[in-house]
This record gives sequence, C-alpha cells and structure tokens, in this order.
Amino acid sequence: MPDPGFHRLAEAVGAALKARGLMLATAESCTGGWIAEVVTMVAGSSEWFERGFVTYTDVSKREMLGVREATLAACGAVAEPVVVEMAEGALARSRAQVAVAVSGVAGPGGGTPEKPVGTVCIAWASRDGAPRAETFRFPGDREAVRRQSVERALDGVLELLGAGAARARAPGPAETDAGYADRVRCLHDALGVPADFFAGRNLPLQPEAQDLEIVETGVNGREYLLAPAAAAAWRRMRDAAAADGVTLTIASAFRSVGRQAEIVREKLAAGIGLDAIFAASAPPGYSEHHTGRAVDVSTPGARAFEADFEDTPAFRWLQANAGRFGFVLSYPPGNACGYDYEPWHWCHHPS
Ligand SMILES: [Zn+2]
Repeated sequence: MPDPGFHRLAEAVGAALKARGLMLATAESCTGGWIAEVVTMVAGSSEWFERGFVTYTDVSKREMLGVREATLAACGAVAEPVVVEMAEGALARSRAQVAVAVSGVAGPGGGTPEKPVGTVCIAWASRDGAPRAETFRFPGDREAVRRQSVERALDGVLELLGAGAARARAPGPAETDAGYADRVRCLHDALGVPADFFAGRNLPLQPEAQDLEIVETGVNGREYLLAPAAAAAWRRMRDAAAADGVTLTIASAFRSVGRQAEIVREKLAAGIGLDAIFAASAPPGYSEHHTGRAVDVSTPGARAFEADFEDTPAFRWLQANAGRFGFVLSYPPGNACGYDYEPWHWCHHPS
C-alpha cells in the first residue's frame, strides 16, 4: 500500500537531490530496506537514488560497508560510531554523494536498560563535510519504531541538503550531549583508550560544527572549512596581516571526530604509544578543531606544526594582533589541557 505521507517526503528528498545533481545511498539495518522502498516509490527516482545496502548482521555491516570490528565490539550495533561508519561505507562503496544509515532496536525483544526498544541511531554523510549522527528513542511497537526511523532518516537528508523545513532541530552543543558523549566514549573504547586516561587533564568535550564554509583552498587543492563567524574573522585577520606584509596561511582548520579517530589510528598503527599521541594530538571528541573555530596557522618558509613557528614574523604579528580579531593562542607552554606548546594553534572566540 503506497503511503501518501512517505510519498510526499520521498518526492521532496528526490527534488532536493536532483536540484543539486546529487545521488543518495542508503545503509539500513533495523529498517530492512524500507527507506529504499520509500524512495523508489517515486517515479524517476533512478535519477537520484544510487543504491541501498541492507546490512542486518554485524558480519554484513563489516563485509558490505567496511564497519570496523573494533567499533562493533566496543559500541554494539546500535551506536552512533557504527551508523557513522555505515554511512561512510555506503559513500565509499557507491557512486552516491549523500548517504543515510540506520541501526536500531525495533523490538519487541533486544532492548537493554542502556538501549531500550525504540533506540535508533541514524547518521547522514556527504562527500563534503563531517558526518552527523543522532540517537532517538522512538515510542510504539516494532512497526511504529521502524516507521519513525524511515521518516526521520529522510527528514535528515533534507536537512543535510539545506532543504529541511518545519522540523527544526537545535544544532550545536545542546544537540550533542548524550549521544555525542556516547559516540566519543565508544570511539575511545574502539581505539583502546582507557576511560580514565585523561584524568588530571582539563579537556572539555568539543561539539562538532554542523555549519561550515570553505574559508580557503590550499595550494594542494585542499579545502579548509571553518564555522561562518570564524571564517569571516580569519579573512579579516589574514588581510590585516597581509597589509602589514605578513603572510598567514592555514595548515589545518575544521576536523571531524571521525577524522581525529583516523589520525589516532594511524599513529597507533605506526607503533606510537598513547602518551605520545595525546601529548601532540587531541583525543577524538576533544579537539578544538571539531568546533570549526580553530586554525593551525603557517607562513611561507616555516614548517607546519613545528615549534619554531614561534620564531617567525607571522607568530609575532599574531601575538600582537590576533586578539583584535577574536583569536586566542589555545595551548601556550604549560597549558592546563596537557598538550605540548602549540604556537600555531589559534581559536576564534566570538565576543
Ligand atoms: Zn590545532
């Protein structure tokens, strides 16, 4: 039986994708292909729906989407890190530019005190920008839980495309709390970082920015993203420095939680110990770069991310002037966060 509500929603998703020349891939666990069924109700959906993965078991999530065994072991199948990896896997293994992934406890069995029946994790990913994940507790029976999952998944695609309408979410820190902290904790578990590893260090959880813009394109063609206010402040600061004959370039800007986990994974694989890794790098979830407000600054002739940046005219200019633009040196020598001194790392604090 065609469902008129779903049909309208799927049409809106299709129109938004088509207008942007994008295609969608789906990665579904508890919805069992229902999202794919709903979008293919729309005539002509082959123009914007690329493929759907139905991955019901852990093995299929690993085999078809490349979800890591460590993530599944640390977090269970219904968890934000898992749906993020499902969505990223769907992108990597398709020709789509946008992906949505769902994993949940539809019931009636399978619930736990921590993840009761109705707990559903959904992630959205696109080729440009960080994936976003959210955890829901949907009321009702199995049918109702699955139906709400399909609806919310497609709503989220509209939001990702900037075509979302009525159902306003509150982006930013408020949204991130429980689900975000859970996602970060699972990622740490999957990396083998003990829960008390950062005791004694003052490391606040840093929310992942949702609203980003390209602030600069590097010589290597790499696009650097910042939150809009930080991007505007950076441009003003860079231009003011240029007017004083000082060149400021970006070596790093926004970085997603997933990317931060990847960096840590690469270092672990290279045989570097946790102490050394986290003296130099933030743990996933705790990097100021997640907020889209932090930039690592470089200047021609200097090596990026090296302490001798301190000896450059660029650093001296920043020391004297960055404050006027709202930028603060986050990690001076002996900082409470316990990081090595980072003269290159500056964070925008809107006044
Ligand atoms: Zn930095």
